Amino acid sequence: MDCCAPSNYTEEVRTNCPSCKNKGKNVQLITLKSLLKASALETIVPDTSYFFCPNSSCSTVYFSGDHLQSFTEDNMKVPVYQKNLGMDVPVCYCFNWTRERLLQAATTDQQPADRIKAHVQAGRCGCEVNNPQGVCCLGNVNAFVRGLNEV
Ligand SMILES: [Zn+2]
Repeated sequence: MDCCAPSNYTEEVRTNCPSCKNKGKNVQLITLKSLLKASALETIVPDTSYFFCPNSSCSTVYFSGDHLQSFTEDNMKVPVYQKNLGMDVPVCYCFNWTRERLLQAATTDQQPADRIKAHVQAGRCGCEVNNPQGVCCLGNVNAFVRGLNEV
């Protein structure tokens, strides 16, 4: 402990979204570096923890653990699945399975989730640099395909 640190110094990180108060998910800095537009990237503080807000009714995509910064889809190079209902938005970013493509696949005997899973298992995915949520998309793909089957 640094003896010169101010007595009220705290490393408390607030993991709840400043906009919607829901819990965010920690994302690696490389994800922000890959997916933020230059104008937003120029403002990030690399020592800070950043979190992803998965709440679809909240416009905040990323926020910093000190709550001094937040970014919306406008700051992103790509549309964000959780925040954007467009059919051309990827569910699986690495292998470009958009909602539209998954919908089309559902009418054929293609098995997108199995194909994606095989690529993931072969070590071909790059979720940390492609997917705004920074982690594997398979949960989203499975949930989306399940939703289609229920219609
Ligand atoms: Zn939020």
